Amino acid sequence: MTTSYEAVAKLGFGAMRLPLTDPDDVTAIDIESVKTMVDEFIARGGTYVDTAFVYHNGASETALREALVERYPREAFTLATKCLAWACASKEEAQACLPTSLERLGVDYIDYYLLHNLGGARTAKFDEYDMWNYVAKAKADGLIRHVGFSMHDGADVLDELLTAHPEVDFVQLQVNYLDWDDPVTQSARCMEVAAKHGVPVIIMEPVRGGRLANLPERGAAVLAEANPEASQASWAYRFCLDLPGVLTVLAGASTLEQMRDNMATFQTHKPLTDAERDAIAEVVAALRSVDLIPCTNCGYCVKDCPEGVKIPVALNLLNLEKTTEDRSFAKGLYSWQAAEGPASKCIQCGTCEAACPQSIPVITRLAEAVEHFEG
Ligand code: SF4
Ligand code: SF4
Repeated sequence: MTTSYEAVAKLGFGAMRLPLTDPDDVTAIDIESVKTMVDEFIARGGTYVDTAFVYHNGASETALREALVERYPREAFTLATKCLAWACASKEEAQACLPTSLERLGVDYIDYYLLHNLGGARTAKFDEYDMWNYVAKAKADGLIRHVGFSMHDGADVLDELLTAHPEVDFVQLQVNYLDWDDPVTQSARCMEVAAKHGVPVIIMEPVRGGRLANLPERGAAVLAEANPEASQASWAYRFCLDLPGVLTVLAGASTLEQMRDNMATFQTHKPLTDAERDAIAEVVAALRSVDLIPCTNCGYCVKDCPEGVKIPVALNLLNLEKTTEDRSFAKGLYSWQAAEGPASKCIQCGTCEAACPQSIPVITRLAEAVEHFEG
């Protein structure tokens, strides 16, 4: 059982979607708002802050230097960042990530350094670029305190990775109540594999890219009846907090209000009762009563799309159509949200499918979007 004190210690501040001063420029981070969020986080007992080389095209790391590193003693926080080696063009580029992150963050060492998003065809790049030996040496040199990796793949792949790399100190896995027994994500089985190898887990996507904080009515109604006072996000966090072997639960926040809601959930943590677990099972059944595309809007697919197709926009609107059962509503949004990269521009090269951590058959789904929204 996790106490509220331990729960706050497990809260991770995810700096993937920070507030912006210009909604069209992902690097235009609203630094004053980030400072306020950081202050709230630290004042209430949080320590773990998670970023990545690629978040906000690098601006997340520099924003954290300004809002966190330059304003608090180094021992007041724990920093995690990541290297997306598979998206680098060469070994030199991949191995330049760590020194660049250290410089952007303004620190001498990284507490938790992750090889970012292993799984599928991406894993081979980390071998090709000799990243395992590189991070081991960096750890020996004192530049990294703990080495780990994040992974979007199934339990068997995780088992292979942890068998091949017994030296890793932790893993970061996608775990939430919707993915718990999902046949692709296999959250439960992945947790079992991590436990078998004795490796602690950092949980990412506890609210499934925000989806579990903004449930369709058929799911929202179940939770509202079970507890009208609790936010939907709080159910998702509570589900993760009591899982054994969990080091940190990452909670993304784009506003101070979201940060406060997250902190309140962790600070007042109580284990789920049997009745509450039944309510969650009921929500999952309700959500699965229609077949939604599991896109988390991570954006990996659009990075190298030669046609600039607005893939997450199209998939999100296909989901919206199913959720609202209103095609004309979704089609109206599509007409302007996907105007710069409609699904019909797809030349079926397959690059997006290789990059997608959710293994979504993007090309097939885009054909549906053309049929539903461009006719
Ligand atoms: S398959 Fe289509 S959407 Fe995917 S990367 Fe290629 S052109 Fe872009
Ligand atoms: S289609 Fe896949 S890669 Fe693209 S945004 Fe969705 S989850 Fe991410």
